[in-house]
Amino acid sequence: MDKKIHLSEEEIPRFYYNIMADMPNKPLPPLHPGTRQPLTPDLLEPLFPKDLIMQEVSSERFIEIPKEVRQIYAQWRPTPMFRATGLEKLLDTPAKIYYKYEGLSPAGSHKPNTAVAQAFYNMVSGAKRITTETGAGQWGTALAYACQIFGLECEVYMVRVSYDHKPYRKVMMNTFGAQVYPSPSDRTEFGRKILAETPDSSGSLGIAISEAIERAVQDPHAHYALGSVLNHVLLHQTIIGQEAIVQMEKAGDMPDIIVAPFGGGSNFAGITFPFLHLNLTKGQNIRCVAVEPTSCPKLTRGEFRYDFGDTAGMTPLLPMYTLGHDFIPSPIHAGGLRYHGAGVLVSQLLKDGLIEAVSQRQERCFKAGMDFIKSEGIIPAPEATHAIATVIDEALKCKEEGVSKTILFNLCGHGYFDMGSYEAYLSGKLVDGEVSAEDIRASVASTDGLQPA
Ligand SMILES: *Cc1c(COP(=O)(O)O)cnc(C)c1O
Repeated sequence: MDKKIHLSEEEIPRFYYNIMADMPNKPLPPLHPGTRQPLTPDLLEPLFPKDLIMQEVSSERFIEIPKEVRQIYAQWRPTPMFRATGLEKLLDTPAKIYYKYEGLSPAGSHKPNTAVAQAFYNMVSGAKRITTETGAGQWGTALAYACQIFGLECEVYMVRVSYDHKPYRKVMMNTFGAQVYPSPSDRTEFGRKILAETPDSSGSLGIAISEAIERAVQDPHAHYALGSVLNHVLLHQTIIGQEAIVQMEKAGDMPDIIVAPFGGGSNFAGITFPFLHLNLTKGQNIRCVAVEPTSCPKLTRGEFRYDFGDTAGMTPLLPMYTLGHDFIPSPIHAGGLRYHGAGVLVSQLLKDGLIEAVSQRQERCFKAGMDFIKSEGIIPAPEATHAIATVIDEALKCKEEGVSKTILFNLCGHGYFDMGSYEAYLSGKLVDGEVSAEDIRASVASTDGLQPA
């Protein structure tokens, strides 16, 4: 039995897989924020290059990956898959556990898979700079890296609390040539409005998105980029799952259960969609489980309805599971999972019962992360520990029931910039935010006026 399941450079996927082609119920259309009518693609042109807009609305099953993009991927792809022999032994479980490791990319997570593609299409379109937001700093780092490759400027609005607590993430973006501003900032009308009301605002992803969009709309040479949620972002990530299928075949195995952490849905979609293709077209029955934090539970406690993707209400209205666009989750350490909404594709799949969702408490996740470090020797990103906690639950269930199942999970990033969070855990200072049903009801109700007639 091999620990590492290796692929060669020729096995980097040549196409992105578009699940839209195989969905039994297509997602509802995004709506214009002003008119509440279905959005026409041309309205997105101030924000995105045409190639990406076409991918956003495409229902073509396979979309070719440009050779320039595949060449860059080759620096760290195909990514390894490992059999978690150490963790299996620690748990004394009959389950077989595998993980796909995306932490070997230059930015340390799965995010460069889409950042490189987005920067490439922006370069082709003639854009000079890209604006974006970042929460924990993973996405900003990935986009800064990708922009530098294709000679684009990168302007990042970083959520204030992360900017203050993760100074080295900011420096990392600077080394890749990006300009990084704490959000809310005084560089945008929306940022100045927030600062006037709340001078010491710690910011949120929704606020930072509003700022980055405002800048892109005002600058004819700038476009905007998002690191999750949108269809084209999820599309680019499907190279993870395509590689994983080949690796599982090489291992002579196939997963019964696939687990991934869930922020906006991109790494979850990346690993599961190619396997869902097998469920939807080849009669397979693989369970796909998204894991979110109990402090930001849009999939398990939110509602499926139209909502904005940002706080200011500048994005189109998206049909998705949401906690309401002004929901501000408690500042947990898995910053990448603190988003109020979820991708339209994954939302529709959840609504149709084709995928599952569970939530995990932060402290439990760090404990699972420590078990993983002890047995496998890799320090996972706090986001990824959510998947590990659920993998452990499933593996222990196998032990209890005396059945062997094959479990695959996405180790979507390393945690080397998250020592502050591990320190908080190790010194017993970690607190878990509770969200009351009343708070959720109130913040979801803020979208009441946004529903189509
Ligand atoms: C951004 C990020 C996430 C959450 O975003 P998704 O789009 O849901 O994948 C999770 N883990 C890591 C390491 C991230 O960088």
